[in-house]
Amino acid sequence: MSEEPTATRTGYAGLYFSHPACLEHDPRAHMPEHPDTPERLEAIERTLAGQDWLGWGRRAAPLAQETRLELIHSAGHVQRIRELSLAGGGAIDADTFVGEPSYRAALHAAGGACEMTRALMAGEAMLGFCGVRPSGHHAEPDRAMGFCLFNNVALAAEFAIRELGARRVFILDWDIHHGNGTAEAFRRRSDVLFASIHQSGIYPGTGSLSDLGSGPGEGYTINLPVPAGSDEGLWLSLLEHIMLPVAEAFEPELVLISAGFDAHREDPLASCRLEASSFAEMARHVRGLAAQLGVPLGAVLEGGYEPAALAECVRETLAALGSDEPAQSAAPEPLLTSRAAAHIGHYWPL
Ligand SMILES: [Zn+2]
Repeated sequence: MSEEPTATRTGYAGLYFSHPACLEHDPRAHMPEHPDTPERLEAIERTLAGQDWLGWGRRAAPLAQETRLELIHSAGHVQRIRELSLAGGGAIDADTFVGEPSYRAALHAAGGACEMTRALMAGEAMLGFCGVRPSGHHAEPDRAMGFCLFNNVALAAEFAIRELGARRVFILDWDIHHGNGTAEAFRRRSDVLFASIHQSGIYPGTGSLSDLGSGPGEGYTINLPVPAGSDEGLWLSLLEHIMLPVAEAFEPELVLISAGFDAHREDPLASCRLEASSFAEMARHVRGLAAQLGVPLGAVLEGGYEPAALAECVRETLAALGSDEPAQSAAPEPLLTSRAAAHIGHYWPL
């Protein structure tokens, strides 16, 4: 298998989308110990700037049009977030907060994901990364939750399908929490394959192995919960031997990663044991898939709450995406991988 070159028409390894407004959303105004801090993005940007952005071209994440948010969200949801923000902010639930700058930050986060998708589908690059916040994958069509206001990656996928002509989009969610909002948005759809690997028994509590989507979407939702303490051996096994073969058979025209980095061993919110290099290896696997299919690959930042570890994970991921080094194949971890294959093999050739 020969890989497509990752170099792009713009001469960059890929396109990196960000906006200063994303630094202004700060839930600590409501909860001083809140882990979703602007320092997370600042650490990423400081690290990448110190290495000349690894050759990635930087682009501004534009404001999303409000009507575009309604590709996924109800008009009422958009209005509630806007009005709460304009009124000075407040709590949505026990850990989700909106401040006065949050609506604008969220519009830039969603707009960055959509603009990245437009650039990728237009052939301006084969790789994209959105270093934006607030994150999105817990946000359901009619509900903000889990630090998330609008579902950036779901909006990107739906935008690609409804407005850019993509017939099938694959979303891989490697954040350690289940991407319940994204799953909900596409639960009954067969044009978006959603695959999530997440630690079982933690927030938000959804995403069991037996939940495979419903109706016409049955088989197009893949949930792979892993136990606390899991290391890269299991994560890479599930990626290589379950998620990637399914995605390859699905033949997406766009690959999106809901890229949280809270499975890192130092993350305070969960307890898996990945290293920054583990994310690099996952990135090589996914880039290999996209290259084999000849389709673009975009990633949108989700969680990751130890800023230095997060920055290192993003740096390693971007470096891996931009290199030609192939992923290493490994024998499947026997227990959970075969259990997952037994469920998912009803729908896909595994
Ligand atoms: Zn997370």
